[in-house]
Amino acid sequence: MAHSSTNSSTNGYDFKVVLLGEGCVGKTSVVLRYVEDKFNDKHISTIQASFLKKKLNINGKRVNLAICDTAGQEKFHALGPIYYRMSSGAVLVYDITDADSFQKVKNWVKELKKILGSEICLVIAGNKVDLERDRNVSQEEAEEYARQVGAVHFNTSAKQNHNIEEMFLDLSRRMIVHADEVEQKSTLSRTSSTRRNVVIVEDEADQERPASSSCCGGFSQSS
Ligand code: GDP
Ligand code: MG
Repeated sequence: MAHSSTNSSTNGYDFKVVLLGEGCVGKTSVVLRYVEDKFNDKHISTIQASFLKKKLNINGKRVNLAICDTAGQEKFHALGPIYYRMSSGAVLVYDITDADSFQKVKNWVKELKKILGSEICLVIAGNKVDLERDRNVSQEEAEEYARQVGAVHFNTSAKQNHNIEEMFLDLSRRMIVHADEVEQKSTLSRTSSTRRNVVIVEDEADQERPASSSCCGGFSQSS
């Protein structure tokens, strides 16, 4: 229920990724840098939520990312689930110069875990590392926190294009692993239920075989 549709390796993977974090931490900047390799010094107001698409090729597997940039976080509890319910991954962004924005990340993580459990792959981005001098969040603390919640932490700068691609690549790799595990599990359960069906079908087929084979024989003779 929690993850988006994922096809077999031949068709590639479709993943929805949601960006969450306090206003002005750089969510829109991160996604614009990643998808269009652009950066704007001004805050571009994000209207509710928008999707940006990115195609990747990871070890010969096609990956389509639909990245959902969100805004209006104060209404998160009312609107949030619409954006993240079908997501395979989430990028939780904070600003390394703003301690409060890191606390907000912890709130998003709690919310996501409550609703999606381990169904969603998490990455935490400590953005604006070009402003290292004004850092207000301990890197060690942030990394330790990420480990505790099963997320991977990245120091990013949308401005200097630092670690943005690496971060989405790492997230994509983990989403592939997770999707493959889910598919394997469902294949296993399908196979075992099919086996049960096969036994029943075989019984029926045995009884019907004389009639059906003469029917087929009739067709091949007359054609
Ligand atoms: P959002 O509200 O989270 O979507 O944040 P925005 O992407 O609109 O960015 C808010 C402000 O932070 C803008 O003025 C951006 O130019 C600036 N910003 C975003 N990323 C960085 C970064 O990596 N370094 C610096 N120095 N500023 C950034
Ligand atoms: Mg924005």
